[in-house]
Amino acid sequence: MIDSHVHLNRLEFAGDGLVVAARARLAGVTGFLNVGYDLASSRESIALAEQSPDIWATVGIHPHDAGQLADEAGRLTPAGRACLEELEALSRHPRVVAIGEIGLDFFRDLSPRPAQLAALAAQLELAARAELPVVFHVRDAWPQLMEFVDQVGLPPARGVLHAFSGDAHAVDWAVARGLRLGIGGVVTYRQSVLPEQVARAGVEHLLLETDAPWLPPVPHRGSRNEPAWLGLVLDKVAGILQMDPRDVERRTDASFAALFLERTADAH
Ligand SMILES: [Zn+2]
Repeated sequence: MIDSHVHLNRLEFAGDGLVVAARARLAGVTGFLNVGYDLASSRESIALAEQSPDIWATVGIHPHDAGQLADEAGRLTPAGRACLEELEALSRHPRVVAIGEIGLDFFRDLSPRPAQLAALAAQLELAARAELPVVFHVRDAWPQLMEFVDQVGLPPARGVLHAFSGDAHAVDWAVARGLRLGIGGVVTYRQSVLPEQVARAGVEHLLLETDAPWLPPVPHRGSRNEPAWLGLVLDKVAGILQMDPRDVERRTDASFAALFLERTADAH
């Protein structure tokens, strides 16, 4: 099974990302998508991917850091343009398989909303030019995300809605556009409504993820999350779909390969 969203570079792993990955391999994890969220973590993701054939990288600027690309009026700044050029150069690295994580976060609002929209638009364009899919981060901004993406357009290679938290309408919107739903530890939480959306989407539209070091599954809430715990997410999803976990693993691994690997093998 493949962890489609992890941050092995994070300080929480104290420089031991490769040890954490080794532990996950012993637990049956066969691949990792290490996701960047600013320039430094994008470079670190590439460095990890260069060291391990089962780790792939994404490069992108998180909505929290959209202020590095655009001002409060939603205009790209000179520093932002330079940053986008650097991202574009990084995106040509053969181990980079997506642009992300990009999107809208109106929960924490760490960057002005117009800046978030401008950063998202610029990186969707970059993904289209680079012929890469995208990894979306969306929090408390589902209606705005759906409307904006329909307005500016998705890159032809599509992408995944990481840590999916949308409603039934968002599921249908994603499925109709060929986007995958990234499902992680939240699906195991007792109060979560995510099981309904997982059942609504169906296995062919799902990817498994941990988002480690964040969002640990039950019974590890309160700890640092580990990609080694991806099996807890797999088992929960299989239970919801009333499927054999091995079938869910096979189907989601195939979706990961189709989205991120087979296509980029042509592009590069
Ligand atoms: Zn993430």
